[in-house]
Amino acid sequence: MGLFNSDSGDGKPFSHAIPGTEQLATTLKDTVGAFASGLGVKPAQSTCVCEGCGAPLSGARHETVQCPYCDRRTQLP
Ligand SMILES: [Zn+2]
Repeated sequence: MGLFNSDSGDGKPFSHAIPGTEQLATTLKDTVGAFASGLGVKPAQSTCVCEGCGAPLSGARHETVQCPYCDRRTQLP
């Protein structure tokens, strides 16, 4: 019966040892995400397959990339 009733103080979750750490991390994550998407600091990535040979292509969204295998130009979605 003592599984959740230990009053020794040992074995507490780490987040309880440092109050606010979890909330701070969440706030930072939201701030960085809004900053990147709002100012375009980190362009959204896009991927597709080459229409010519089916090779996987990746790059910034709406960017025209040239297939390294067949030199066909494809605009990313
Ligand atoms: Zn290709």
